[in-house]
Amino acid sequence: MRRLTEMGLTLQTPLYQIKGIPPRFLKRLERLKIFTVKDLLWHFPSRYEDFSEVIPIGNLEPGQQVTVEGIIRDIKLRRSFRRRFVIVEARIADDSGEIKAVWFNQPYLLNTLRPGQRANFAGKVSLGENEIYLSHPAYELISARMNADDTQISADTETRHTARLVPVYPETRGLTSKGIRFLVQPILKNAGVIPEWLPEETLEAMGLPEINAALNEVHFPTNEESALAAKKRFSFEDLFLLQLTNLRHKMKLAKEKAPPLKADIGRVKEIIGALPFELTVSQKKSLWEIIQDMGKARPMNRLLQGDVGSGKTVVAAIAALLAAESVHQSAFMAPTEILARQHFSTLKKIFAALPMEKQPEVGLLVSKEAKIFYENDLETEVSKAEFKKKAESGTVKIVVGTHALIQNDVAFKNLGLVIVDEQHRFGVAQRQALVRGKKTLPHFLSMSATPIPRTLMLTVFGDLDISIITELPSGRKPIITKIVAPANRYKAYQFIREQIKKGRQAFVICPRIEPSETKSEEPGNGKSYSQKIALWEVKSVKEEYEKLSKNVFPDLRVEMLHGQMPAFSGHKKKTLPGIKSKAEIMKDFAAGKIDILVSTSVIEVGVDVPNSTIMMIEGADRFGLAQLYQFRGRVGRGYHQSFCFLFTDSSAKTANERLKAIIEAKNGFELAEKDLKMRGPGEFIGQKQTGLPDVAMRGLQDFELIKSSREAAVKALEKDKNLKNNPLLAGKLSEFEERIHQE
Ligand code: ADP
Ligand code: MG
Repeated sequence: MRRLTEMGLTLQTPLYQIKGIPPRFLKRLERLKIFTVKDLLWHFPSRYEDFSEVIPIGNLEPGQQVTVEGIIRDIKLRRSFRRRFVIVEARIADDSGEIKAVWFNQPYLLNTLRPGQRANFAGKVSLGENEIYLSHPAYELISARMNADDTQISADTETRHTARLVPVYPETRGLTSKGIRFLVQPILKNAGVIPEWLPEETLEAMGLPEINAALNEVHFPTNEESALAAKKRFSFEDLFLLQLTNLRHKMKLAKEKAPPLKADIGRVKEIIGALPFELTVSQKKSLWEIIQDMGKARPMNRLLQGDVGSGKTVVAAIAALLAAESVHQSAFMAPTEILARQHFSTLKKIFAALPMEKQPEVGLLVSKEAKIFYENDLETEVSKAEFKKKAESGTVKIVVGTHALIQNDVAFKNLGLVIVDEQHRFGVAQRQALVRGKKTLPHFLSMSATPIPRTLMLTVFGDLDISIITELPSGRKPIITKIVAPANRYKAYQFIREQIKKGRQAFVICPRIEPSETKSEEPGNGKSYSQKIALWEVKSVKEEYEKLSKNVFPDLRVEMLHGQMPAFSGHKKKTLPGIKSKAEIMKDFAAGKIDILVSTSVIEVGVDVPNSTIMMIEGADRFGLAQLYQFRGRVGRGYHQSFCFLFTDSSAKTANERLKAIIEAKNGFELAEKDLKMRGPGEFIGQKQTGLPDVAMRGLQDFELIKSSREAAVKALEKDKNLKNNPLLAGKLSEFEERIHQE
């Protein structure tokens, strides 16, 4: 590495161009995804070993973690015959005394450490039979360091492995932290000055170190505080960029036009008063926030969050009704046909409570059917062509359907509002596509039953305004939740039978069985991974169905629901005899014609069957907490007491601890927060969905830093809206935006 400075290192320099790094080292570095100077310098220590105390040998005490500086008096090899390993023993002396250092199975040390050399030894002071000794100390030759002309390190007192906080890196086979330190230190010194891209005011306000100082301190910190400050700076960077991205997306939307859909307060009160129930406080509050947004001449971008059954659809329905009364159409989009149908019937139920002349025309568009609800008891099937005409002419005010159908097949006369289930982003381009060439964009309301932790709301979904429904409609009883160990399975089945005999119904959710967990002669060979997963999910449902219908509950009506069944069998097209569609099964279940419904975990999230009071979850330990919470939310919607049984075959204590969190959690948000901590954000929402780099994902755990990064981003944009005075920052930002592919 002699010519480090001469070659003019930049961050982009590939490591193979640096003289002196052996090829086998490069291979190992590649395993850590380290290819360039930048990769290496951004390979941060996971922790530090504190060897900063340098103590005279005479003052050493057992248990201390220290560095001693001394002369090697002698060094020799000893064999332990009984245990068949070699021991290297050295005696080290300084003015105050002498101590033994011991290493196991490192005979090559005899070539490195020679009597008479001066060196540092860092390690733990252990207590032997009648003396203290250093066990396996790290060492660093001082004379060698001073004479070395193969690095730029001069005779100053800079050390790497001893007499300081020593970085411990993520390692790989054949590449220890020691090896990484050897590379990092000289390269760090010669990488040149890295331009600072964070605004000075931001650094100052946040109390963060400048980039070069931060890089030095993160690898070779002066003390713990400076190491922490350095790490904080790097976590901050991505959070800051993420916040800037969100804020700029918000600003971009704010520049767009939307039709102001003004609502008269008296009219809103009238509608609420006509409902068959009293809205909860947070339903009212959310509705108010939505009405405010829709009244503005720029597009609403709002997320309505609330547990399953908390009454989001009702709130959205009122918003759509108000839009209709402002002569604008709404698109109500669901991810599946079953959900679209359910939304359609919820809307019908709500609007039927209004006086006839006030009922808006609502349409349902699914793959094989189109329907129009004109008013109470007045509903007809129409052809798809007719349906589209009605949308185009603006007579049908609210169009309910699946995303794909509405986005591809329907042209609206005057679309003012888009309501979507569980899809949190609806950018400018998507809105433009729906209104084809119009000057205004529709307002957007996303509904989500996934409890998104606060940290994610402020970061990943930071461009959305948020309304939260925190309470369930009154009169709902808490769901009794039990973890069922294998020994108690039979008892649980008996209880379930009794409940069903009383007229209740039950869901059974089967876990996804990974193809790799089973034998190779099973289905799915030659298929892609996701195809296999789908097949296996079906297999697991079929097996559970067989077991329950034949062995456990032969006297009850058991059916199954899975992804291989047709979604819907319209009467225009005959389906095969004996094969039911998902829609038929759901209809039968809702009508009480099925006692037990065995389903995959992908069973439609919003399904609403109030008489169903039992949720059995097989292999509960295989699911995330937030997911389990959502399954459970499908019961407890009626007047009867509901139950949730979490079956687990795992006797692992941690699995049970995890499941207990469900029982103890007060709400989904709390659980989501826990889930996020336990599984990390990647597992929680999926790294793909966020597109966030690792560092940012880790930063998502730090709530305080998230808050301050948002404030810092707001300030930075206040001062310099288009980042004209911060070209470096602007560059970083567009790089970042490219990486996360956000609109
Ligand atoms: P979500 O969409 O959040 O899952 P829904 O809007 O579908 O919830 O409501 C679930 C059920 O509760 C529906 O049958 C709905 O009519 C009913 N509901 C909604 N709000 C209330 C309320 N405030 N009081 C009583 N029942 C309500
Ligand atoms: Mg719902």
